[in-house]
Amino acid sequence: MKKLLVLFFLFPVVLMAQTTILKCGNLIDGKSAQALGKKAVVVEGKLIREIIEWDKIPANANVIDLSSKTVLPGLIDCHTHVLLQGDITAEEYNAQVLKESIPYRTLRASVACKIALMNGFTTMRDVETEGAMYADVDVKKAINNGIIPGPRMYVATRGINTYGHYPISNGEYSWELHMPKGIQEVNGADEARKAVREQISYGADWIKIYADRSYYKKNDGTFGSIPNFTQEEISAVAEETIKSRKMLAAHAITPDGILYALKAGARTIEHGTAISEECMDLLVQKGAFWVPTITVIDYVAEGRAKLGAVSYFQMYQELQPRFKKAVQKGVKIAFGTDAGGFDWQKLPQSREFSFYVKYGMTPMQAIQSATTVAADLLDKAGQLGEITKGAFADIIAVDGDPLQKIEAMEKVIFVMKDGKIEKQ
Ligand SMILES: [Zn+2]
Repeated sequence: MKKLLVLFFLFPVVLMAQTTILKCGNLIDGKSAQALGKKAVVVEGKLIREIIEWDKIPANANVIDLSSKTVLPGLIDCHTHVLLQGDITAEEYNAQVLKESIPYRTLRASVACKIALMNGFTTMRDVETEGAMYADVDVKKAINNGIIPGPRMYVATRGINTYGHYPISNGEYSWELHMPKGIQEVNGADEARKAVREQISYGADWIKIYADRSYYKKNDGTFGSIPNFTQEEISAVAEETIKSRKMLAAHAITPDGILYALKAGARTIEHGTAISEECMDLLVQKGAFWVPTITVIDYVAEGRAKLGAVSYFQMYQELQPRFKKAVQKGVKIAFGTDAGGFDWQKLPQSREFSFYVKYGMTPMQAIQSATTVAADLLDKAGQLGEITKGAFADIIAVDGDPLQKIEAMEKVIFVMKDGKIEKQ
């Protein structure tokens, strides 16, 4: 027994960290401007130890043959809702919030997490639970403890909006009923501050606010909205979040919402469909990020327009030139889909790549939006979103060359997370 203990202390690395070598047909490391061609990635335990040439692979090594595949960093989706399973219409949303218990919704969330991981998403920022309280903290815990498979999660818990401005709307049902809400409602700076403190105490990594509502097209052709918070309220939220070393995500669709959210201290603008050049310049100046979520906008626009929300469709029709302008101006655009806003089973999150390329990114820029740029958004540069020495071994492989045909990102055939093979 004593001898064994001595051995254990003498050779801890040999005993504990297993080495695996991924033989890559073509390596895209997330960082370099070009693909690196044939390389081998040495994985030791949870981390990437080094990148070597094929002829340096030791004869007796434990090799995984991906020599006919393109190998990339594990993907990061910066905007998801695992507690939601598609809501084109208010009915679909209400049905989930009113008819499904939080335990039932959490079981469904575990399926969503597995789907995401199998599609190559090894990290997700989940931006609020839509009425499922702190169930996202439990999902994250279950994944981290190995109870269920899923991406590494950064969670925002309940989301915050001011009173009366978020579904389920009070006017939709009898006023005798007290309808549950998809967010935590606040009134005034003190309640806003309290909500931030409360959410952080229960495990929020991010604070999510809904900055504007009621979108419309103005006579001059631009889009307007109503800011949801008073200056005191949004300042209180931002100040308390940043002071607690957390980060603020702001749902904001038009310049009215985007500008005051950015000025208050939001790190990310979610959707931003009617983004203006002034907003783009401020994003660049602040080093903040735009998360455009085009997959969901494309998915819901027509359905919502039919139901009378015409402004959604109008904003979407003008999104392409705006996106192109933002790319030209050097706005940090991070990959986000709003999965959960669409059914996890119906659409792959990777569909988002095709929109980015169609709208003006190079395939490499699109890939980096879901790797290094997204890691930067999470303040995890060097650890996530890249295949470099010392980063977490979150690695995927796809059939074909996504730099030629970006749709290849939808055919993930290998997934490793934390050095552990999740799909092969
Ligand atoms: Zn969302």
